[in-house]
Amino acid sequence: MQDEEKDEEKDEEKSKKERLVAEGYEGVKFKASNFKAGYKLQQGDVEYDLQAKDLHIEFDGDVRQLVAVFDAQGYLRECPMCHMKCPEGSMVILTDHHMLYPCWMCNKLIERLTGDEDVDWSGLE
Ligand SMILES: [Zn+2]
Repeated sequence: MQDEEKDEEKDEEKSKKERLVAEGYEGVKFKASNFKAGYKLQQGDVEYDLQAKDLHIEFDGDVRQLVAVFDAQGYLRECPMCHMKCPEGSMVILTDHHMLYPCWMCNKLIERLTGDEDVDWSGLE
């Protein structure tokens, strides 16, 4: 059982991103300002609907699947880095591995691992 798991892991590590690209997923690089109110991600002329599209985000050495996106005002209230109030329409993105807050005030992508315990938004960038 353990050996099987190991093999699978190795396989995923090697090809998860390549597999996604082969399946027609586009690789998109983004920064905080690419996120738009209404849960949108703007890249050039293309606008991605974060609620509708099957998106993956690269973080911590792997590709993470976007699970949910929700209103930052009701959850964070203020940016953990610059402590500015979360603007109207700003959002927190949840993947199967971490959370992401694109701050439009300090223009940083603030990422936190999720676990069993509450996410600690203080400290580290
Ligand atoms: Zn900020």
